[in-house]
Amino acid sequence: MPSTEPTFIAKYALETVPRYTSYPPATKFRGGTGLDQWRHWMGQQGDAPALSVYVHIPFCKSMCWYCGCHTTIPNGHQRVRNYLAALDTDIKRRAEIAPADARVCHIHFGGGSPDMLKADEFRTVMRRIRSAFHVMPDAEIAVELDPRELDQELCQAMAEAGVNRVSLGVQDLSEEVQKLIHRIQPRETVQAAVEQLREVGITAINMDMMYGLPAQTVRHVCDTAEAISEMGADRVSVFGYAHVPWFKKHQRAIPEDRLPAAAERFDQMQAAGRALSKVGYDRIGLDHFARPDDPLAQASRGGGLRRNFQGYTTDPSTILVGLGASAISECPQGYVQTEPNPVRYATAVTGNADMLVRGTERSPAQRAVATRIADLLCHFETRLEPADRLDRIADMVEDGLARIDRGRIILTEAGRPYVRNLAARLDPEFRFSTDQHSVAV
Ligand code: SF4
Repeated sequence: MPSTEPTFIAKYALETVPRYTSYPPATKFRGGTGLDQWRHWMGQQGDAPALSVYVHIPFCKSMCWYCGCHTTIPNGHQRVRNYLAALDTDIKRRAEIAPADARVCHIHFGGGSPDMLKADEFRTVMRRIRSAFHVMPDAEIAVELDPRELDQELCQAMAEAGVNRVSLGVQDLSEEVQKLIHRIQPRETVQAAVEQLREVGITAINMDMMYGLPAQTVRHVCDTAEAISEMGADRVSVFGYAHVPWFKKHQRAIPEDRLPAAAERFDQMQAAGRALSKVGYDRIGLDHFARPDDPLAQASRGGGLRRNFQGYTTDPSTILVGLGASAISECPQGYVQTEPNPVRYATAVTGNADMLVRGTERSPAQRAVATRIADLLCHFETRLEPADRLDRIADMVEDGLARIDRGRIILTEAGRPYVRNLAARLDPEFRFSTDQHSVAV
């Protein structure tokens, strides 16, 4: 009888599978899908669709060695100003081709570090978005923040502009780990940021933590989870460090001999989950946690949980307009991505050229697969379809990680950490031998 406790199984933990933040995955995006295609798709939306806006700020004050984001360290603030001038035009162009009756329910600033914007700059961007789009009075307006860089003036500007949720990057609170990842941020710094935000009335606070960092141990992960709970985070995301130094060159500064082995990573991931559950968080999908009264936990219980590029969300929108360099836009018909290089992005936008450089159309069959994969990632089960290749999931069933019951395929408790492996097996386009992705755990 297989154990119900998840255990490390190298065969699955080391399998390289898509993250499935989109379907088809971003690795399938190709050139030739641009503004004309997006305009065409926007003409096919229903009445008064819910719309989400994502704004990418691709700048940081200094580089964290573990970073996997699209960001740069600008040589002076003029580069940020140039970028914001282009973003201004981008907002107008994209709003002009969005459905005129679309209602904006969510706005999310990510990066990079959106706190690289000065208070007035943040106010201006929000003003432009509000005048270009129809932003609902109860829209969620969320910003990712680096706790090291917050100042009171920006906090005040964010509150006045309607920001009502923030995500603080915490990662790990041990000094040794922080030195090795080039991000010195003692607990007091995070605590001070939380207090600053609360003072201006921004009280919905998410925190991100990581496992798999150099010199990190189960103890470090548990201590960080405990501190995050004490600081009062409503939601916590737990991400595994993806070491890809051939792709992200600054990661070469991470000492590889200090990285935990795959089995230790697994133990850290499990320990984080146990520590957060013990102090009262509900587990949401694969890697998020929320207080039971938080809307994300309520959505998870009530069936309204969704998944997008930022992870698990309550956002009901069918259209995502991605603004800024590297941002991805989504609608039922497909995806488009803007030019990732901030300078080339700004040149394209201000030169009235196409800043959308790649993407993919999504067929009705692919939409159906996307729905099933989202079911799996949000609720750990989905219906079995006649076209499913049972031989592709046989190993996970035999290993006690999944079971088939009354026309549904269900992850067992032991199988939940391997949900992406099951998704890959149900993805008719995924080829284990050739597709390049990150390890599953
Ligand atoms: S603050 Fe975030 S986006 Fe910026 S370098 Fe560090 S990890 Fe990357």
